Amino acid sequence: MCVLSRQPDKYRSARRYLACVAALLSFSSALAGEAAVEPSDNGVDLLQDTTLDTDSRSSETSAAAENLVEAVPAHEHLVPLADAVTTAAGQSAPLVLLGTEILPGTAHRLSWSATELFEGVPVSTPVLIVNGKMPGPTLCLTAAVHGDELNGIEMVRRVLHEIEPKKLSGAVIGVPIVNVQGFRRGSRYLPDRRDLNRYFPGNPNGSAAARIAHALFKEVIAHCDALVDLHTGSFERANLPQIRADLRNPDVVTLTQGFGSMVVLHSKPTVGTLRHAATLAGIPAVTVEAGGPSELELAEVKHGVKGIETLLTTLGMVRKIRFWGDPEPVYYRSSWVRADNGGILLADVSLGSTVRKGDILGTITDPMSNARTELYSPYSGRIIGMARNQVVMPGFAAFHVGIEADDVIVDDDPVDIAVKPGNGGYVDGMSE
Ligand SMILES: [Zn+2]
Repeated sequence: MCVLSRQPDKYRSARRYLACVAALLSFSSALAGEAAVEPSDNGVDLLQDTTLDTDSRSSETSAAAENLVEAVPAHEHLVPLADAVTTAAGQSAPLVLLGTEILPGTAHRLSWSATELFEGVPVSTPVLIVNGKMPGPTLCLTAAVHGDELNGIEMVRRVLHEIEPKKLSGAVIGVPIVNVQGFRRGSRYLPDRRDLNRYFPGNPNGSAAARIAHALFKEVIAHCDALVDLHTGSFERANLPQIRADLRNPDVVTLTQGFGSMVVLHSKPTVGTLRHAATLAGIPAVTVEAGGPSELELAEVKHGVKGIETLLTTLGMVRKIRFWGDPEPVYYRSSWVRADNGGILLADVSLGSTVRKGDILGTITDPMSNARTELYSPYSGRIIGMARNQVVMPGFAAFHVGIEADDVIVDDDPVDIAVKPGNGGYVDGMSE
């Protein structure tokens, strides 16, 4: 019998944990042989698949996304997010979500299906809700929008099961596995290879990805006053726990300041990401990146949970105090160091390492000729993301070096300190 305990340390491997989660979610064995979803759309897909397209920020797709957002009622914030609890008046109200009324002071587990049917069989995923006894904002946590990013799943579980409804002001909604089809296959993508996080806020008549995005956005995200979307690095890369946030938005800044001492990178969200769509709809959102894909990393999970619980405290939703040595967020600029040669990449640094300008970050060795090249840090800073040891091609983004900044940086180009032209910049699919 599989029992999920609050001491997940007992799970010796990610595999065993996943087997347990899968069993608890009662996935039908009939779904095991998942077929690829027919990629041709019945409707018009307004957002193009930008999985392999770096031009995802074109004004055309941006305009399309904004039109879609207009279909969702914009969130009116009469007070700044930071004051949402103190200005909330009277009794908290029942929360109606997915057709269920959740009374103040209670916790529920509901089930959400992106569409009625996939392959003729319902595919549902849990939605955890704690509606606090006292009034306040609704904070939403989403994880596994990319199905192979596991750390956030465990963060959502830990946070939601720790909250006491009678001591909470406002509500917390957690969707631990948004991309349930990708999760079951151990894949970042949907079965048709689309990246779900390029389709928000979605389209009810579009591709499978657009429909799933639309359903989540309309049925869950639209109820949120703030959103934290949990991710990890991708494609054999891992990230030091960090917040990605568009610091031009004051409520987003409030969110980043609430997490305590975490690395913060200013980043304008890519069109089609959940973070982008939510913020456009008036729901301030940040992405938390922690660790790498396909693994459960306890240190990263604990770091993320501590950050989210600190956020609940700083927003005034719970009274528990989390201790950080230095509770201030640390703002970083950053740049990627790329491989100029192909071969076997072996790192000389680890995640979180402090490096000086000119330090060797790693080596790339040609397995045939034995020719070896070295990758150097272009400036002094800290390793905030890096590739796992692997075979790489020229141009591969290997090390993400962050340099501490004095204050909030709001440049149009967050990577303006790249030393070489073309070094750094947006790395498609690196993260959210
Ligand atoms: Zn991701």
